[in-house]
Amino acid sequence: MSTATPSTVTFDGRFARELAEMAIPWQAAEVPEPRLLVLNEPLAAELGFDPAALRSPEGLHLLTGNRLPEGTTPVAQAYAGHQFGWFTPRLGDGRAVLLGEVADAAGRLRDIHLKGSGRTPFARGGDGLAAVGPMLREYIVSEAMHALGIPTTRSLAVVATGQPVYRETELPGAVLARVASSHLRVGSFQYARATGDVDLLRRLADHAITRHYPAAADADNPYLGLFEAVITAQASLVAKWMLVGFIHGVMNTDNMTISGETIDYGPCAFMEGFDPATVYSSIDEGGRYAYANQPVVAEWNLARLAEVLLPLIHEDQEQAVALAMESLGAFRPQYSANWSAGMVAKLGLQARDDAESSPVVDGVVTVLQQGRVDYTTFFRTLGVAARGTAEPVRSLFSDPAGFDAWAESWLALDPDAASMDRVNPVYIPRNHLVEEALSSAVGGDLGPFERLVEVVSAPYGERPGLERYAAAAPGSFGPYRTFCGT
Ligand code: AMP
Ligand code: MG
Repeated sequence: MSTATPSTVTFDGRFARELAEMAIPWQAAEVPEPRLLVLNEPLAAELGFDPAALRSPEGLHLLTGNRLPEGTTPVAQAYAGHQFGWFTPRLGDGRAVLLGEVADAAGRLRDIHLKGSGRTPFARGGDGLAAVGPMLREYIVSEAMHALGIPTTRSLAVVATGQPVYRETELPGAVLARVASSHLRVGSFQYARATGDVDLLRRLADHAITRHYPAAADADNPYLGLFEAVITAQASLVAKWMLVGFIHGVMNTDNMTISGETIDYGPCAFMEGFDPATVYSSIDEGGRYAYANQPVVAEWNLARLAEVLLPLIHEDQEQAVALAMESLGAFRPQYSANWSAGMVAKLGLQARDDAESSPVVDGVVTVLQQGRVDYTTFFRTLGVAARGTAEPVRSLFSDPAGFDAWAESWLALDPDAASMDRVNPVYIPRNHLVEEALSSAVGGDLGPFERLVEVVSAPYGERPGLERYAAAAPGSFGPYRTFCGT
């Protein structure tokens, strides 16, 4: 595949064309003095961009949406959403534009989207802007998730605008260039349905099928097939989050994709000491999006998707409801099967049958809960225990009696340490490291940010000299709170 200068990459405008009712043609705000903070070179190359060209002045104009190749049709996308349970029929990209789609090296269509690119008709009271810190935060966490093998939107670049953003204090502004297999959300379908235009809803569903789940087109009922494919993708995604200790923080229906990619990194964080009730987001006072609630919320969001798909599923509403409910019933068993298989792998017990492994899998949750130990360190040091040295994991527990009893039955199953090390990360973007990197970056030193991105981009292989990246936060850090990047 040949690389191209920014001006010769062509952006398709497929969403804009096929779903014009949900796409407002819109230009990014002018950024007179863009300054590149970070460029994801491997991702750029995967998309067919010449990384050097993206670093040029012309490239920076592209990454801020200021000068786009001829024929590009940037749009603000419309969507609705349940936010903390309350429905808003018109949210949309208030501070973002979709530049269009590009075909990547594998021939897949990928959205190129800018966040923090100025007010749009969906901005309501917002300023349309984003600050450097939250955009670099999305960069770190999304790239870490990708490296962990978890479906996610990617971060192509963060460009400082040189202009201030006013929050509690004045902050430097930035634009994030985000890459996604699409930006279709549950909220996109809620928007289409709320317009009352069933033809639009059908075109949106057809667009989603073609783009993400072409096999659904051959199902007896393609729209039920689409719904079932989204259920399967989300049951897999949320199980992966749970297995790695990721807390999204704002699982509103506008922040849940149809593709099954993680999207909209706002007040997200990785859990440290195991506690199912963990919440980091400052706005989640009721704990709606707490760690342990995530599968329940995903199912709730999928029920909202089902509701809006009903007119496509069957012309008779009662039958449509019955079909959708039956499909939705698959979420729990699929989620559980994904989670159990993942936990079996984390414990190195793939060679065992279910009857042998399931008491040990159930028991580990109790052990974690009683010990409140660092989730990531626990599994990694468990790999050391599988090799015969129990002390590192034992020492995490103030009272190891419960752990000892459990470990005896686990070790009796002869866990495979090498395979555990391939699924239990050493390096995750720990909250204190993220904060350290962001405050340095905002102060002008990108070194700690670059180092952290490099470390979390290869999470499974332990490397000498990186001990502080594997260690839990010092006692002086916390309690941790995260804020929406608004
Ligand atoms: P989020 O919490 O980032 O998922 O955003 C929820 C909604 O608020 C979306 O419609 C965003 O486009 C919009 N929004 C968030 N921040 C801003 C901002 N600073 N200016 C305009 N719209 C915003
Ligand atoms: Mg959002």
